[in-house]
Amino acid sequence: MMNESLLTYISACPTAYQAVEHTAEILEAAGYQHLREGCLSSLAAGRGYYVTRNGSSLIAFRTPSSTDFRGFMITAAHDDSPCFKIKENAELCDGRTLRLAVEKYGGMLCATWMDRPLAVAGRVTVRTSGGISVRPVVLSDTTGIIPSVAIHMNRNANDGASYNPAVDMLPLMGEASDAGLLRRRLAEALNVAEADILTTDLFLYNPQPGMEWSGYISAPRLDDLQCAYASLSAFLTAGEASAIPDTVPVFCLFDNEEVGSQTKQGAASTFLFDTLTGICEAVGLSHAGMIGKLSSSFMVSCDNAHAVHPNHPEYRDPNHAVYMNGGVVIKYNANQRYTSDAVSAGLFALICERAGVPIQYYANRADMMGGSTLGNIANTQVSLNTVDIGLPQLAMHSSFETAGAKDTAYLVNALTTFFSTELLDCGEGEYRLTEPRTVRGED
Ligand code: ZN
Repeated sequence: MMNESLLTYISACPTAYQAVEHTAEILEAAGYQHLREGCLSSLAAGRGYYVTRNGSSLIAFRTPSSTDFRGFMITAAHDDSPCFKIKENAELCDGRTLRLAVEKYGGMLCATWMDRPLAVAGRVTVRTSGGISVRPVVLSDTTGIIPSVAIHMNRNANDGASYNPAVDMLPLMGEASDAGLLRRRLAEALNVAEADILTTDLFLYNPQPGMEWSGYISAPRLDDLQCAYASLSAFLTAGEASAIPDTVPVFCLFDNEEVGSQTKQGAASTFLFDTLTGICEAVGLSHAGMIGKLSSSFMVSCDNAHAVHPNHPEYRDPNHAVYMNGGVVIKYNANQRYTSDAVSAGLFALICERAGVPIQYYANRADMMGGSTLGNIANTQVSLNTVDIGLPQLAMHSSFETAGAKDTAYLVNALTTFFSTELLDCGEGEYRLTEPRTVRGED
């Protein structure tokens, strides 16, 4: 049931723009109110709100009942995935065929994008009488296929292929006579005149629906929509509890993690800092008062982790192997690509213990660099105890990834307990976690 909802969520979120649109719909249905950034002065106590930035990042929160609240309990996940961005002059015509001009967005496994139907989603700007209107758009019918070169012409194709994105990864979209097809389809989908479409942020995505099978789930964009969905579910479930702790729960969805987060809406931006400041000012708390709250605050940076590959167990660190359906992964890296340290991992391990959720510890082999994620980057803007966690998966950055069917529920349960807990920094290296309150839906 939970994975079914996850797979529906993934299908509704082909790009970060649709992820924000769809997440906002879910929040609205649960009674959360949309506010524009910079307009947080009118917050009512004990209510739920959300703000968005660039239409591709979103932060939801519930307001405290007074300035005496303990701190912020924050989750962060990302809503972008590696894919191909369609260039502004999109069509390439060679007299016979029409192809799309694309470039890589993030670091994908190129082979997994070939020989499968691809669709288009993103946003466009449309001319209005006095300016522009930003319009999310999805063209869910097949828009292109990136064809492989036949084995007969490339006998080395199975021996460590390399892919030049400017040559090998251009999708076939139609015949030469189809010139103008993309803009025609966009105009039709948006019900506007073609001439009024000004500019685009469009991406290719894999429209194949996800599936659950034999203890696993496979779907596009599990990194990181599995964590986005699980943290959203936990945030909403904890908010329904009859006794809610006096903290400020904050759910963050950041764009641009796959390209380094250094954008106005990414985890490196001021978005989280500005939102927390707005909440504090609304309840009459000064900047110094807000800084005081951060010591009793906590962030869980949620981004999927590498499960041991059954065909390639040699890539694991022998003592830090993590497995699908083995529970939530706490990620460590000495060079602080992951923020987890003894304090943050210890506190989160306790929360998982209270939730009855198994945990696994991950570190890269010491001779492999591995990836990075949101936690350390977000901490440069808002500094607080942060743990990097994720769910174990295979084929990260493939166009169709695989994870454990049990793990989604593990993360929902762990984060529901997290959002129902108060953290207290007692000083002198002492921290206390309040017992979680009764949450609806649990025993
Ligand atoms: Zn990720």
